[in-house]
Amino acid sequence: MNTFISMAVQGVRQLQPYQPGKPIDELEREFGIGNIVKLASNENPLGPSPLALKAIQSAPLELSRYPDGNGHNLKMDLGERLGVNPGQITLGNGSSDVLDIISRVFLGQGREAVFSEHAFAMYPILTQAVGATARIAPALGAATEMHYGHDLEAMRNLIGEQTRIVFIANPNNPTGTFVGKIALENFIADLPANVVCVVDEAYFEYVDNSDFPDSLDWLCRFPNLIVTRTFSKAYGLAGLRIGYGVSNLEIADLLNRVRQPFNVNSVALAAARAAIKDTKHLDNLRALNSRGLIQLGGAMEALGLGVLPSAGNFLCIDLKQSAGPVYDALLRMGVIVRPIQGYGLPNHIRVTVGTQEENRLFIQAMKQVL
Ligand SMILES: *Cc1c(COP(=O)(O)O)cnc(C)c1O
Repeated sequence: MNTFISMAVQGVRQLQPYQPGKPIDELEREFGIGNIVKLASNENPLGPSPLALKAIQSAPLELSRYPDGNGHNLKMDLGERLGVNPGQITLGNGSSDVLDIISRVFLGQGREAVFSEHAFAMYPILTQAVGATARIAPALGAATEMHYGHDLEAMRNLIGEQTRIVFIANPNNPTGTFVGKIALENFIADLPANVVCVVDEAYFEYVDNSDFPDSLDWLCRFPNLIVTRTFSKAYGLAGLRIGYGVSNLEIADLLNRVRQPFNVNSVALAAARAAIKDTKHLDNLRALNSRGLIQLGGAMEALGLGVLPSAGNFLCIDLKQSAGPVYDALLRMGVIVRPIQGYGLPNHIRVTVGTQEENRLFIQAMKQVL
């Protein structure tokens, strides 16, 4: 009998699919319950800016037309806001798409990507899918200030002749840890010229720490740097799928050769342009997030649980017991969080900061479950 798995390319045969957070309507179908709180996918509890919603409402008039494949207007706006040449920007169907394009440009059979243990789950998938080899550095240990965070020295030690990409999630999902300015700058400066450093800043807009780097400032000094960001998290546009990478012009040209010509849809382009103008909405969200981190962190510590310090809009909680049963019990109470055993953290869950009320419902459910 023909088995299709044997027909798949080598890298794909061993792939494990990405496990998304459980959708609300799936839980509704399974348990027949309502009033579900989903804190599982680091989504924005305030939703997108009202300006973005307005832009979305007028965009459908043009649905019969292909979108602008170059995303000209958004790139102009973003370029101005970020202080870069619009030609340095590569738009993607979410920043995952940009990461995928980068992998297809620089990886392949016989090549290697280096990243950290407990790092974002797309890195191993993208690496294996193109037949490249993942070299995974152990994370920082309990004796360090950033337990479970990226160990840049260990990562540097894994870089070899065949390494073409090193992925750094800053801050990292699901741990919430981050790499500081000086450490990251020294790390990139020390990389071989033929290794591309991808700094994945999906949570950039949430970070409130003076030690966090302004990585875009380094683009002129480090030609091998690519910074990726997204509209899915702080901008609340996860459902529209739009993100971007910023690199030097030569890399942007390479990424553009592989990119699907209409990878970003017209509604997303219009919404993103409007979203970046609404700095007030973003400020409100940041304030809500900071309060939520304190609310959740304090409550979890009061329950005797461990909490990793987070620079993002989520908390990684050490339950000090297997997370599976706690996750299941929370589901039955209508609270969806994220189990992260797939990230090598079987005793932890990841919880997104929600509204004050959503956080309260989660805390209440946790008290009952434990
Ligand atoms: C959510 C996330 C992304 C990408 O999300 P998109 O929706 O594809 O933009 C990338 N990296 C990390 C670390 C993330 O958590």
